[in-house]
Amino acid sequence: MAIERTFSIIKPDATKRNLTGKIISKFEDAGLRIVASKRIQMTKAQAEGFYAVHKERPFYGDLCSFMTSGPVVVQVLEGEDGIAKNREVMGATNPADAAAGTIRAEFAESIEANSVHGSDAPETAAEEIKFFFTDDELVG
Ligand code: ATP
Ligand code: MG
Repeated sequence: MAIERTFSIIKPDATKRNLTGKIISKFEDAGLRIVASKRIQMTKAQAEGFYAVHKERPFYGDLCSFMTSGPVVVQVLEGEDGIAKNREVMGATNPADAAAGTIRAEFAESIEANSVHGSDAPETAAEEIKFFFTDDELVG
């Protein structure tokens, strides 16, 4: 295993409920380090581009509206086996299936408003980091 960087979003359902700090604690407690972080209002174009892989799915339109419904916190997390570790801390997409103690089990409202996003592979992590951050924003 190696040190990996992954891309994370704290979604609008979580920022609205003032859960940013509690979610960041889950990452840090799992050994993930926040190496870049910013709170932004995502534009419609950014949401549509970011979720372009889901364009044909029935929930695409709703998902893009949800992701622009309030501020999000975009972050780069780093750690040993970071991509898988983050997915583990997040829990299953549907909070009803998420393991106890995971972010989605504790905080998610629904399969859509599920509090966090995390990259699923090294290639997507690299693309997603580039989508929201310039190299000089990755401060370590
Ligand atoms: P993410 O990509 O956000 O980390 P994921 O990889 O667990 O989550 P994906 O299948 O990539 O899940 O779906 C992307 C996002 O689309 C989900 O996190 C969720 O917000 C939304 N989503 C997925 N499936 C559904 C669904 N059946 N109905 C509504 N929204 C959904
Ligand atoms: Mg995904």
